[in-house]
Amino acid sequence: MKQKIVIALGGNALGNNVDKQREAVDRTAGVIVDLAELGMDIIVTHGNGPQVGMIQRAMDGLALREPEYRPVTLPFSVAMSQGYIGIDLQNAIKYELLRRNMDRKVSTILSQIEVDPEDPAFRNPTKPIGHFMTREEAEQMEREGHSCREDSGRGWRVVVPSPMPVRIRELATIRTLVDAGHIVITCGGGGIPVISDHGRLVGVSAVIDKDRTSSLLASKLGADYLLILTAVEKAAIHFGKPDQQWLDSLTTTQAERYMAAGEFAKGSMLPKIEAAVSFAKSGEGRKALITSLEKAKEGIQGHTGTRITAG
Ligand code: ADP
Ligand code: MG
Repeated sequence: MKQKIVIALGGNALGNNVDKQREAVDRTAGVIVDLAELGMDIIVTHGNGPQVGMIQRAMDGLALREPEYRPVTLPFSVAMSQGYIGIDLQNAIKYELLRRNMDRKVSTILSQIEVDPEDPAFRNPTKPIGHFMTREEAEQMEREGHSCREDSGRGWRVVVPSPMPVRIRELATIRTLVDAGHIVITCGGGGIPVISDHGRLVGVSAVIDKDRTSSLLASKLGADYLLILTAVEKAAIHFGKPDQQWLDSLTTTQAERYMAAGEFAKGSMLPKIEAAVSFAKSGEGRKALITSLEKAKEGIQGHTGTRITAG
């Protein structure tokens, strides 16, 4: 049986604007094709924080300048970001495959994720989106009705609700394409959040954490690996403190203990560890690995990263 891997790309794999994204996806495509060369089935998911922020601000600006346009809602901005990122990534991967004489198809699937309308997250926004701001800019945004929060010592950002993903509506389509040998890009930005109103899907204003959605996708597809690629080579305890300690491997029990002790920052490393734990517990032999984009191949070969397994 071929090994199946879900690769969750973080913000640093994509760049923060149109030109940076163009450069970044070429590098990222190289990493993805390295893993394809190892003979794995590949499903790629990705973040969209800066991109969805850019799209929202552009569309808000349009609505302000031209009164016949209404502001575009967040779920539509997420859909646009899936298309905008997907096309760049898909073409970069396709070109890299061509360069290496590899014959594989690449597809991008827009994906909607059902959430529970009663999810308590709707009463407590936590997910940072968009660009980093100074404290003064954040205070101005709060006066305009947004919620803002400081993000891992790097600046202030707008926060929106982050409900749990419940059901991936396009799962059967994704599975069909993976089984047909496609590299599939999907669940961008955690998916387009929707609720089902008697069968009709309606978008809701929220952002689903892409690491959580990736974990759900990986477990539903019966993947062997969940590879979470971010800006750090490993997760740490006492992160950023003098006694910081990088972690090589964790059992789900140890990970849960560290989570309870508050070792991982909410909205950045915590959802990755949670995603890793829930995937590792979802079936026998399933492994999650958190590492950097640059170290992805080494990590999969067992040489680096933070590995999380059931136990
Ligand atoms: P991504 O875009 O990949 O989802 P995030 O910024 O959301 O990236 O999360 C990764 C970041 O989490 C790291 O770059 C690091 O600054 C931060 N972080 C917070 N807590 C920890 C920790 N305990 N160990 C390692 N990194 C951590
Ligand atoms: Mg993140």
